[in-house]
Amino acid sequence: MELLDGKKVKLEILEDLKKELSNYERKLGLVVIEVGDDPASLVYVGQKAKMASELDYNFNHIKLDENVSEEEILKIIDELNNDDMVDGILVQMPLPKHLDAKKIQNSIDPYKDVDGLSDVNAGKLMHGVDTLIPCTPYGVMDILKYYNIDVEGKHVVIVGRSDLVGKPLASLMTNNNATVTVCHSKTKDLIKHTKEADILIAAVGKKGLITGDMIKENAVVIDVGINRVDGKLYGDVDFETAKEKVSFITPVPGGVGQMTVAELAKNVVKAYTLRKDNR
Ligand code: NAD
Repeated sequence: MELLDGKKVKLEILEDLKKELSNYERKLGLVVIEVGDDPASLVYVGQKAKMASELDYNFNHIKLDENVSEEEILKIIDELNNDDMVDGILVQMPLPKHLDAKKIQNSIDPYKDVDGLSDVNAGKLMHGVDTLIPCTPYGVMDILKYYNIDVEGKHVVIVGRSDLVGKPLASLMTNNNATVTVCHSKTKDLIKHTKEADILIAAVGKKGLITGDMIKENAVVIDVGINRVDGKLYGDVDFETAKEKVSFITPVPGGVGQMTVAELAKNVVKAYTLRKDNR
């Protein structure tokens, strides 16, 4: 069993980006909009700020009151869409209930949508058009690539079908010639599917849902889940029983979670390039 070390891959991605950015004529700009005081968001925005500082991006954190109106947010996004020095715009999720998250995400210029969550970018991804891809699925592809794990012709089973992880991952895997099965909360006999996986990806949000007996001998297991229990982080995979079966596995913490912020850094560069080439 070998661990897939997200931290190591992240550091290499950031080093490569630093070299590439040293040739750019201006600093790239990333704006994060945060609404309210969600404690997890505070941590995630902090990680983004740290990454932006390491890469010398212009980082603007717009923090809004939790009662802010949708109209006000849409106005701010419109201004940022029209600001040529802003390359990437990201709205930190979750948003308070009175705000329409989809509408807000879709109001971001698709060429600045560094979370890749707009309908335009989701459609392009599905059609195999080069575009901004959601960071976590992008991180899963990069960690597999780094460890030379080819997905072509493999049976990839993804547990979870969210717009953030499961669905974009299914498109990425299909575009890279894997055979894909997507399981979800209404899937019957989950174990029947997981046991068939050459590459098993868990993106559910349930601690220890995937146990060793659900995994095929020598499978590659990617654990996207982040479950906080009594201040400790756990994945969706029960590591202790899984490690006996797998050839490779991502730990939690230290696996996919590490990749997400590196992919955001890459997406800012990609957003700059795509906008320059297409406008
Ligand atoms: P989500 O709640 O939007 O989606 C969960 C999915 O799991 C749904 O599609 C649902 O159908 C499925 N599901 C629920 N119960 C199931 C069951 N018993 N069997 C099979 N499928 C079931 O969650 P999400 O946003 O996709 O996130 C999933 C997990 O990944 C969470 O733990 C989240 O914290 C984590 N996450 C990690 C990163 C990272 O950087 N590593 C980024 C995003 C999300």
